Amino acid sequence: MRQAVVLGASIAGSLAARVLAGSFDRVLIVERDDVAGVTPRRGVPQARHLHGLMERGRQIMEELYPGLTDDLAAEGAPTTEVLRGSRWYLSGLRVFPTATGLTTLLASRPMLENAIRTRTLALPGVELRTRCAAVGLTGGDEVTGVRLAGGEVLDADLVVDATGRGSRAPDWLAALGHERPGEDRVDVDLGYASRTYRRKPEHLDGHLAVVVSTMPGFRGGGAITLEGDRWHVTLAGMLGDHPPVEPAEFERFAATLPVPDVHEIVRDAEPLDDPVPHRFRGSLRRRYERLRRPPRGLLVLGDALCSFNPLYAQGMTVAAQQALVLRDCLPDPDPGRFYRAAAGVVDVAWGMSTGSDLRYPGVEGRRSARGRLLGAYAARAQVAAHRDAVVARTFMRTANLTLPPTALLAPDIVLRVLRAGRR
Ligand SMILES: Cc1cc2nc3c(=O)[nH]c(=O)nc-3n(C[C@H](O)[C@H](O)[C@H](O)COP(=O)(O)OP(=O)(O)OC[C@H]3O[C@@H](n4cnc5c(N)ncnc54)[C@H](O)[C@@H]3O)c2cc1C
Repeated sequence: MRQAVVLGASIAGSLAARVLAGSFDRVLIVERDDVAGVTPRRGVPQARHLHGLMERGRQIMEELYPGLTDDLAAEGAPTTEVLRGSRWYLSGLRVFPTATGLTTLLASRPMLENAIRTRTLALPGVELRTRCAAVGLTGGDEVTGVRLAGGEVLDADLVVDATGRGSRAPDWLAALGHERPGEDRVDVDLGYASRTYRRKPEHLDGHLAVVVSTMPGFRGGGAITLEGDRWHVTLAGMLGDHPPVEPAEFERFAATLPVPDVHEIVRDAEPLDDPVPHRFRGSLRRRYERLRRPPRGLLVLGDALCSFNPLYAQGMTVAAQQALVLRDCLPDPDPGRFYRAAAGVVDVAWGMSTGSDLRYPGVEGRRSARGRLLGAYAARAQVAAHRDAVVARTFMRTANLTLPPTALLAPDIVLRVLRAGRR
């Protein structure tokens, strides 16, 4: 009997188990938390903060769980056309409200996570053990299993580490005598503070969401409608400029955003809880693809492989893209092949997010002449997206990872960006 053990029952773990299910007789998901209930839990503190699902992520989840979007909509998660039903602001300018062909699915993070986990667990051969922490790996040249807290060993033909940013896989590999992966970091000292409010239909003139991008010189934040007629409001500031959680100060911070939309909700709507903070020190990428001899029997994915600055809302989508990479490597995944292909999808999102972060003079990192030029162009493209529907559409599609970032460099788009910049 072939058994795969997946560590972590969050987004990446559930997606990985979903694609493994056809190729292994048994897929056992091991999770430290109790995951019953659709509320934020200890192992996923980020679930208390705004989570946007990019369109590429939604498409992949829809492919893996047909009907997911409609099911969640039927359970109360609003869906809308991205620029028509919601408002996007870049550098304080509203992105032109045009049709994009992109769907926004406004399910809360616990609702989405619960939905994909429940659907994964309904597959034949997939099982879940909760309140059970992995503490190490077994094996030698090859990984042959997992050691659990308490000493029990689970044998596995394949172990998938989806334990998130705090993954201990590098230590576990070192304990077996393997090389540790190198790490790339871009520190941003980002602060979030979030609160939920009761939503009334007249808020924001009926729009379902507003996103105010955090940019050099601009604090950011957003408000999205969640199931249960609630607003989920998150405020954000980079490089130590963190939003406070004391309610009056939270409101004052909201008033400093470049546009009034989020502040109006914070000022007028009835709060349903107290603001909660989150500190994100920086993006962290573990370079497993550079290991000379990545051991067979172990694959690392999701935030354990790369954790992105959450301002760009890429993490869940990149986890979904990695699940497809894993599917392509089955039934007997070669780790070198998996990590090389996974690096391909990570490269795109990493380049976009760290490229934006490096536009802050205070963010440390290597700035190439090409990177500076692209940064300056991206700034102009954002202004053009305010005036030009074609640029707006292309910009949103690249941000949603349904088009590569190079789509913004197509000659007709470059012309439009330059023309809009002259006006
Ligand atoms: C503040 C914030 C906001 C974000 N906003 C967005 C957004 O808008 N859009 C977006 O796409 N992404 C966003 N992200 C990223 C997103 O949360 C992650 O990319 C996504 O959850 C995928 O992560 P994961 O499944 O790899 O890990 P996680 O979601 O962190 O889950 C790891 C799981 O492993 C379990 N675990 C940990 N250690 C062990 C162990 N030893 N044994 C067993 N189980 C263990 C944990 O309990 C948890 O269930 C945000 C992140 C942060 C921090």
